[in-house]
Amino acid sequence: MAGERLEGGCQCGAVRYEIGGPPLMAALCHCSMCRRANAAPAVAWAMFRDTDIRFVSDGRREYASSPEARRGFCAACGTPISFTASFVSPA
Ligand SMILES: [Zn+2]
Ligand SMILES: [Zn+2]
Repeated sequence: MAGERLEGGCQCGAVRYEIGGPPLMAALCHCSMCRRANAAPAVAWAMFRDTDIRFVSDGRREYASSPEARRGFCAACGTPISFTASFVSPA
């Protein structure tokens, strides 16, 4: 995946992102917070460095799901799109 540029976005297209580096890790999380935030039995995550991600449009909003964590979503269509936490330190 080195040198490959990933891009994606929410369901309606108001939020788009570009990723310029490899994932540090990927996991399926089934903690109660992820299950409630996504109305799903588990959520697939890939973790990237802050500096490798660029949100191209400004349709994203964040919700502080705990004092140290913010869950990003599209303000227009509601698609959960990101998770940022101060307790997760990149390897
Ligand atoms: Zn959207
Ligand atoms: Zn979780």
